[in-house]
Amino acid sequence: MKKIVVLGGGFGGIATALRIKKKLNNSSVTVIDKNNYHTFTPALSKLASGMISQEECLINLSVILSKKGIGFLNSEITEIDVRNKIVITRKKKVKYDFLIKSIGSETNFFDIAGAEKNSFVLKTAIDAINIRNHIEDTFKILAKNTQKQDKYNLVLIGAGPVGIELAGDIAHYLEDLCNIFNINHHKTAVHLIEKSHQLLNFNKKFSSIAKQFLNEKGISVHTGKNVKEIKKGRIIFDNETHLDARTIIWVGGIKPNKLIGEEKARLCCIKGLISNEFLQSVANENIFEAGDAVICYDEEIHKQIIHNAQAAIDQGKLVADNIIRRIENKKLKGYVPKKYPVIITLGDKTAIFYINGFVFSGRFVSWLKAAIRKHYIYSIKR
Ligand SMILES: Cc1cc2nc3c(=O)[nH]c(=O)nc-3n(C[C@H](O)[C@H](O)[C@H](O)COP(=O)(O)OP(=O)(O)OC[C@H]3O[C@@H](n4cnc5c(N)ncnc54)[C@H](O)[C@@H]3O)c2cc1C
Repeated sequence: MKKIVVLGGGFGGIATALRIKKKLNNSSVTVIDKNNYHTFTPALSKLASGMISQEECLINLSVILSKKGIGFLNSEITEIDVRNKIVITRKKKVKYDFLIKSIGSETNFFDIAGAEKNSFVLKTAIDAINIRNHIEDTFKILAKNTQKQDKYNLVLIGAGPVGIELAGDIAHYLEDLCNIFNINHHKTAVHLIEKSHQLLNFNKKFSSIAKQFLNEKGISVHTGKNVKEIKKGRIIFDNETHLDARTIIWVGGIKPNKLIGEEKARLCCIKGLISNEFLQSVANENIFEAGDAVICYDEEIHKQIIHNAQAAIDQGKLVADNIIRRIENKKLKGYVPKKYPVIITLGDKTAIFYINGFVFSGRFVSWLKAAIRKHYIYSIKR
């Protein structure tokens, strides 16, 4: 029986493991993750702004995997010994015949001085809770010093879908906290900083709905602002102007997880770039990749494909099929990227949906996003 080891229990890893086990019952599949839960990241913004609890976005990995006869090792992966086909973790070494690297991404600070040290990020449930606790602690301090109250500035850097959604949710959260702590709303301000001159470059209508929402929420949007350095409580721009803030959140981008290291450069999909449209390592035909850890390049539009949960799931399923095909000595299938929808919830009541040039907005889009979360969680738990 072939030993299949999946690194990472995120969207890509879970999709791979469940599909292999479903299609190839006589297989040994083990998932390794440093956390014992799977995170539904699209809900993290709501967790950071107190709208939902942890239970609504974390799913216990050992419970869902053991139900399907899939092994789970809760440990951090530190190294892959490709020559001897061994994964080295903090707890033990695990041998494999086939390996799937789906360990996601990490925050990209683009070497901006002080960015990592002096800002919050939003990648995990712990990050979300840190943001929420910090904001609440700040309000407790503000409430004590009502006489000499400074303005509370909260700044988000990066106006992509995550930055916009988080700005809207946090603005809503600050309104609630102002009421709870009896603080004048005018004493708080949310700023959203973006390097490029346009918000969300998918589509003009999409961009203008998002802008209108941010304006209505009183969020100050600063486009064309290049951050040069982040100090404690201060953002310095390349024209030497600055903005002071008690809370700075960096949502400026991601890069493939470090563990992928040098090998990342040799693993790619889509013809033409570096290698293999089968999501298979060119250096080692028993290693495959899925999700944010892969750099996908679309030759047609000459752009790197945006990473998202749906792409990770599709890649995970393809990797599962290709491993089965390799075991059965069949031809591998190539990865064809799709035009995935983008849904951004704007506060607690509305959302915008973009797909392939079409834009919809309204309360029903917000319900749709909540329904997608419920359906996804149900589908992997059942
Ligand atoms: C705040 C936020 C909001 C988002 N919103 C959306 C959205 O609305 N829609 C959408 O489609 N996408 C969204 N995304 C993007 C989406 O989360 C990613 O594209 C998706 O998670 C990628 O799946 P993955 O399997 O590659 O990685 P992940 O889901 O990140 O999984 C990687 C797994 O690897 C594990 N891991 C990493 N390193 C190690 C190690 N050394 N040892 C052991 N385990 C390790 C991690 O614990 C994790 O469980 C959002 C992302 C964030 C951060």
